[in-house]
Amino acid sequence: MLEILEAWLRAAADRFHAEAPNLTALDQAIGDGDHGTNLDRGFRAIVAALDARPAVEATLTDQAAAAELLRLTGRTLISTVGGASGPLYGTGFLRASSAIGQAPAPIASGPALAAALEAAAAAIGALGKSTTGEKTMLDALVPAATAARAAADAGADAAGVVGAARDAAEAGAEATIPMLATKGRASYLGERSIGHRDPGATSLAILLSTLAEAVDKADAG
Ligand code: ADP
Ligand code: MG
Repeated sequence: MLEILEAWLRAAADRFHAEAPNLTALDQAIGDGDHGTNLDRGFRAIVAALDARPAVEATLTDQAAAAELLRLTGRTLISTVGGASGPLYGTGFLRASSAIGQAPAPIASGPALAAALEAAAAAIGALGKSTTGEKTMLDALVPAATAARAAADAGADAAGVVGAARDAAEAGAEATIPMLATKGRASYLGERSIGHRDPGATSLAILLSTLAEAVDKADAG
């Protein structure tokens, strides 16, 4: 699982670098136009932290190492991304780290991954004082966590659970277009926020699509 998570974070950094102009354009429409550069900066810092990190101690279990990796990711996002999304994403990763650390082994299983997504969604909602229907990243993450849990309960493996989360996040991001924003900068626009896709929901969907790719790649090879 550790290798999959590391491959995921590196691939996400590439994706966010490539998608930065799109995410920034979305944020220009209903925010301040920095979401693409925020995530590009944050994920480049994550890659730098991964490169600088000492080799994982042989005594560390895969589970403990995966939790540590997610903690490093969360801390790096909080310290390098100034916008609202840095603390929100960062806290989501920190809480997912705790969930993975406490999940019954094996962590590369449907239930553990669903628990991590649920923990991230709850943490972001608590920090942002936000819920679904407010045109934020939660409109992608909450349906993703719900779909992941349903797939896990139905006996899906890691790839099935993450694939369900990816599809629900993408549908959730698309569903933010007609929403009225009531949280974050987009809420300043009132009715004028309607008709635009939320940048944070879009980046969340990208993150889960990259995770699904990393899991599929590991399964294939
Ligand atoms: P900023 O709004 O500070 O410029 P970003 O542009 O990086 O930060 O991120 C904006 C995104 O953050 C929004 O598109 C939205 O998805 C998310 N967001 C903002 N406020 C909240 C909140 N209270 N709860 C959940 N998500 C939020
Ligand atoms: Mg912004």
